[in-house]
Amino acid sequence: MQEREFRLFVGGEWIEPEGGRRFECVSPVDGSTWAMAPYASVQQIDLAVRLAREAFEVGEWSRALPSRRAELMRKLGSLIEQNVDELARIQVQENGKLIREVHGQTLALAKYCYYYAGLAETLHGDCIPLSMPDMLNYTVRVPVGVVAAITPWNSPLSLLMWKMAPALAAGNAMVVKPSEFTPISTLMLAELVEQAGFPPGVFNVVTGGADTGGALVDHQGINKIAFTGSTAVGKKIAEKAGSRLIRTTLELGGKSANIVFDDVNLEEAANGVLAGIFAAAGQTCLAGSRALVHKDVYDEFAKILVEKTERISIGDPQVMATEMGTVACRPQYNKVLAYIDIAREEGAKLLTGGKKPSFASEASLFVEPTIFGNVSNQMRIAQEEVFGPVLCLIPFESTDEAIQIANDTRFGLAAGVWTRDVKKAHKVASRLNAGTVWVNTYRKTNYASPFGGIKESGLGRENGPDTMKEYTEVKSIWVNYGEPIKDPFNPRA
Ligand code: NAD
Repeated sequence: MQEREFRLFVGGEWIEPEGGRRFECVSPVDGSTWAMAPYASVQQIDLAVRLAREAFEVGEWSRALPSRRAELMRKLGSLIEQNVDELARIQVQENGKLIREVHGQTLALAKYCYYYAGLAETLHGDCIPLSMPDMLNYTVRVPVGVVAAITPWNSPLSLLMWKMAPALAAGNAMVVKPSEFTPISTLMLAELVEQAGFPPGVFNVVTGGADTGGALVDHQGINKIAFTGSTAVGKKIAEKAGSRLIRTTLELGGKSANIVFDDVNLEEAANGVLAGIFAAAGQTCLAGSRALVHKDVYDEFAKILVEKTERISIGDPQVMATEMGTVACRPQYNKVLAYIDIAREEGAKLLTGGKKPSFASEASLFVEPTIFGNVSNQMRIAQEEVFGPVLCLIPFESTDEAIQIANDTRFGLAAGVWTRDVKKAHKVASRLNAGTVWVNTYRKTNYASPFGGIKESGLGRENGPDTMKEYTEVKSIWVNYGEPIKDPFNPRA
């Protein structure tokens, strides 16, 4: 592919990075540099926030009618549909995720735009039934102001859309900082935002490294930080936001349990468990990285998993038939291999995988889908987020024990339950400490359904109608339509 030099999107203009500073975008499939992304300076981040504030307060945006915001959201949705192939291809180029998954995910971005267009027009406050005579009290929802959105590399456009759709629909302005490993897809989406006709300054993109994210977070002109990424960075952001009392939405890490009871169709459950971990090469926050398997079916289930895993077709992620692509970037690749070593040293039993596939070049970042058996939940491989294609099998004997193991983690993002017993399904779902529980399915998300974590998996929820609350403040308005107000100091006057 032709190497392309990109620019920053600030105040509705495409601007050169200060001093022409750029960084390389490296393909995880062959190690080649395929694009040069702009590195925003601190001054350019400041400019982006100031122009976002101007667009929000002085420009057309703060006065834009709900129907206008909805119209722009629908236009953006339609442009995404028209450009879906290119947006999907570029994300795969960036992070080595499967085109067969990313294409569908990218098409779904348009649905988010349409859904939030509807919410832009239907968002409303309440009329409060006060027990006070001749007094009307009502609430309105007002946008919070300038939102800083910071995203990771695993699903760059989906995780951005989870933030930008409600933020823009509610009337906020935004400054976006995508991951240093996937900056180009966000810049391409900004081209569509521009084409859709959003006013200049409403949507800005500053690309760069962790320091760019840090400078954006530190900027005093932002009113909210919407972050998806690691728990370690999320905590730092929460500390800073806390000291300034600004809002956050934090979508962080996970170590989710997929619980397989002994009454299931093992083939079906195995398909669900494998899709829950190896699709996206394990690089999803909600990956079912711990499979808790009833001891009566443990051996047979492990055998089915291994057989199916060894048939997974690993290869070029741009090819529709490929079933597993690469790990997204070199640091993540090194981390995954390091965890495989740790698991071995801890005494976990390697059942399959555990290395780079033999066909893969030195420069590529392929890792075989890997399963460890007889894992104890106390091992690091069961407690720490690997964020790669590594599955732990943990046996259990009773329902209570399964729930205890599933909840014995610092994370609380998601969990899966596989059983034909409807009572057991509901009982276990109610006792799992996680933001999402799937029963006889896994890894499903939708624009209409809230998603987010508890414990160290995050704060707040994305998706669903309540997300509009995360991007608005409630204002309470009181109106006296009764007697004139008496002079409180001279009541007889
Ligand atoms: P990361 O935390 O390293 O980086 C995320 C983003 O934050 C990047 O844009 C990065 O440049 C920026 N950043 C890094 N340090 C920063 C700082 N000090 N201040 C401000 N910004 C900073 O995460 P990653 O490696 O890109 O992504 C993987 C992580 O994301 C995993 O832990 C995964 O579980 C999590 N994740 C969570 C969800 C969810 O919805 N809960 C979804 C996807 C990924």
